[in-house]
Amino acid sequence: MTKKTVSAASLAAQAMGWIDPVTRAVVPPIHMASTYLRDEDNGYSSGRIYARADNPTFDQAETTLAALEGGAKALIFSSGMSAATACFLALAPGDHVVVPKVMYWSLRNWLATFATNWGLKVEFVDADRTDAIAAAVKKGVTKLVWLETPANPTWALSDIAAAAEIAHKAGALLGVDSTVATPVLTRPIEHGADIVMHSATKYLNGHSDIIAGALVGARDDDHWKKLRAIRAQLGTILGQTEAWLLMRGMRTLYPRVAWACRSAQSLAEKFAAHPMIEEVLYPGLPSFAGHAVARKQMTNGFGGMLSVRIKGGERAAIATAARVELWKRATSLGGVESLIEHRASIEGPGTPCPPDLLRLSVGVEESADLFEDLDQALKRAHNA
Ligand SMILES: *Cc1c(COP(=O)(O)O)cnc(C)c1O
Repeated sequence: MTKKTVSAASLAAQAMGWIDPVTRAVVPPIHMASTYLRDEDNGYSSGRIYARADNPTFDQAETTLAALEGGAKALIFSSGMSAATACFLALAPGDHVVVPKVMYWSLRNWLATFATNWGLKVEFVDADRTDAIAAAVKKGVTKLVWLETPANPTWALSDIAAAAEIAHKAGALLGVDSTVATPVLTRPIEHGADIVMHSATKYLNGHSDIIAGALVGARDDDHWKKLRAIRAQLGTILGQTEAWLLMRGMRTLYPRVAWACRSAQSLAEKFAAHPMIEEVLYPGLPSFAGHAVARKQMTNGFGGMLSVRIKGGERAAIATAARVELWKRATSLGGVESLIEHRASIEGPGTPCPPDLLRLSVGVEESADLFEDLDQALKRAHNA
């Protein structure tokens, strides 16, 4: 296959065109083995020793994801959190890291507690402002700059190329949580990122039926080997069946994300004109603060995630979420079913999330059905 001319969407659909060499099956088997036979000369010509380090069932998902992101290598993990925390555990106590104030809540919490107690110097910045990143990064001291773009749950954009330049000038690496963008919309390595992280639980798998994470490295260098060693040492590997499900889900990543983007754009435009909605947060709206950066680094659409701020504050927001029928009230995102969530109540005290905000993860239902359902919920909550 002339890989160079085949688009990422086609590579994903066919899982790189892999065919089982023995059976000619178009779908790979699940390898259950925990250990591998040693050769008579005491070597391991298979390259595999023990399944806490790797498993042939990981290969397809890792090779495919590395290709989709334009990276050198990928590693799949037991969760997005284990993938993200590996990037920080690869540093040393005393190292300085610059991270966003608005980011995935559990990672922010881990950085403020465990990572800080362990000795990392964690500095939280407004990562949608390049000048704020530049002011925080210290040459020779900062080891990692972390971005999440678009960032949960306000969808604020960070300029990856600008942050990469700042990080690299200071001798730091740039890591990007690209869970929400997916490689369909943004390929951070092309913009200078060193590591791309995904909660593969979300769009990559896409069916709300596994917890998984992934890292993609721009280079197969010493730092990458360290991340691989951390996964093998901590045993934060994905189960074989989950790895297989992840690859199965990734085959439809491009059509699922394209559909979700079209629906989310149409819903954002309609809700922006809705009398019971104060504000719509969506990178695809020209009025959105991060729209210019989104146009610069996002392709194929602006994502399937948006948030709406409800007139009438927290009570009206919770009352609206209580009255939806088609949207499902649940945490998480990136699945085929659309989800709605009052974020402030799950994040608790200290959250930067506005209390009147409902987060919407747009799935692959008809967008007209989704509009009608939220519209009736808004009206019934308003009249209650
Ligand atoms: C869900 C999520 C994570 C954490 O991933 P898990 O798979 O739940 O551990 C990290 N970042 C973002 C943006 C997420 O949405």
